[in-house]
Amino acid sequence: MAKKKADSLVIGGQVISPGERANIEIPVAPTYTHDTLAISVQVVRGKLPGPRLFVCAAIHGDEINGVEIIRRLLKNPLVEKLKGTLIAIPIVNIYGFIHHTRYLPDGRDLNRTFPGSPRGSLTGRIADTFMREIVANATHGIDLHTGARHRSNFPQIRADLDDPETLAITEAFGAPLAINAKIRDGSLRQCASELGVPVILYESCEALRFDEIYIRAGEQGIINVMRHLGMLRKRRGQSKPPVISQGSSWLRAPESGVLRVLVPLGAEISKGQVIGFIADPLGTREVDVVAQHAGIVIGRTNLPLVYEGDALFHVASISPKAEWEVSEFHEALEPSEEEIDPADLSSAPIAG
Ligand SMILES: [Zn+2]
Repeated sequence: MAKKKADSLVIGGQVISPGERANIEIPVAPTYTHDTLAISVQVVRGKLPGPRLFVCAAIHGDEINGVEIIRRLLKNPLVEKLKGTLIAIPIVNIYGFIHHTRYLPDGRDLNRTFPGSPRGSLTGRIADTFMREIVANATHGIDLHTGARHRSNFPQIRADLDDPETLAITEAFGAPLAINAKIRDGSLRQCASELGVPVILYESCEALRFDEIYIRAGEQGIINVMRHLGMLRKRRGQSKPPVISQGSSWLRAPESGVLRVLVPLGAEISKGQVIGFIADPLGTREVDVVAQHAGIVIGRTNLPLVYEGDALFHVASISPKAEWEVSEFHEALEPSEEEIDPADLSSAPIAG
């Protein structure tokens, strides 16, 4: 396979030669109405050989922040100058994307179905197609995700940080936080790594929403990785390495009611800190939501109506020695008044 990777590149039956930029449609099962569907791929192949990086989004069909990250990446003039190959797949789960849902029409989660099978269910077939057409042609990968519906994630990398190459890409990306995530069975990360293709996962924002700063962080992170891999010219000054977390847990609602949140995403919290409260609608009773351990708020619910036991805050543990500082990260990416399109303004909260 190594030799094949060095020479020819064929995706969706189309040959992409050095110096070529091609849009490719990989057909998948049509809709009931027999309308054809295809996964759109853009391949940018530099004149000079180098790594082959795939970047994909919307494996969960409602996680659209990454779709915008890839759209901007492909418009970035830097991409014209790359060594090696960028394989961009903005929408992997097109069925879910059309219907604003995480899943496929057969009810399965694509990111638990890899490597799939050519004779399996619809989801299994898409996983199989993705492995054969994309992963088998790549040397590295970045998979873009968001939180679920009504849940925002602070920008973070999830990856197998015990693997030195994966750790190096994670450090290059420049997200503030990385979680050493055990590989989930049936995930793209797991199956790609079994083929020797290290993959990192960038989590940010909420399903069905855009977040301007997190989109910028994602695009910049991919460019940072391309510089690290030698696909783009290196710049002086490296990305700030992320604070690494070895684990995380959800803090659940102590009772049902209306939630008020007292800390932003990205906040460092201490054990015993009151980070929210839950009230009944008449305001006669208020119950504190108390942090069970110290850490960083990397995810939270945006829906203030909660049942007892609902997951409220996702808290990542970090070493007490780690220095947590995110204001620089936000300031560097903050759009100016002229730059921002009001339509891009997000509803997602930003850590102060
Ligand atoms: Zn996801």
